[in-house]
Amino acid sequence: MGKKILIDLSKFRAYDDKSCDVMPPEGYFPVPFNTVGLKTVRELAVFQFTCRRCEEAPCINVCPAEALEKDMDGIIIRYNNLCISCKSCVTICPFGTMMTDFFKHKRDKELYFDLSDEHELDEYMKACPDGAITIVEHDEKPEEHIYKLNDKVLVKEPFWNSEKY
Ligand code: SF4
Ligand code: SF4
Repeated sequence: MGKKILIDLSKFRAYDDKSCDVMPPEGYFPVPFNTVGLKTVRELAVFQFTCRRCEEAPCINVCPAEALEKDMDGIIIRYNNLCISCKSCVTICPFGTMMTDFFKHKRDKELYFDLSDEHELDEYMKACPDGAITIVEHDEKPEEHIYKLNDKVLVKEPFWNSEKY
């Protein structure tokens, strides 16, 4: 089965409550050039598991930069290079699913960790809040709100779509 990185999203919400003065560390997997920009595992996880996938998504409609759209599975994606950080989408989301700090452009590059590198993964774990990141050897556990983001990452989050499982 192999080792997986388990991210407990709830541990990151405290950052949001602090009005983003303190920025959380971010993990990512390097990908070849794409049109959406660098995607952190936390942003991918929130759009996949926390977002309610509104049919007439107010976040998309309000975005003045046309930086948001849905992919083929109805999951919101953000084009970082278009986003002007106005946070209108954060304000209008009726479920408060967006973590405000995603939309800050000015970030220290020291806060970014390449999770495909063992050393950087170690550093990422140390920089994250206690208990936010663990290494596990199991798969999805829906009964514990643990879901698969990709082959290397599991996310713990009370997934809104109970019909999926
Ligand atoms: S913060 Fe970015 S994605 Fe959100 S509404 Fe503003 S421009 Fe669009
Ligand atoms: S408004 Fe909020 S819950 Fe609805 S699609 Fe946008 S981010 Fe998701």
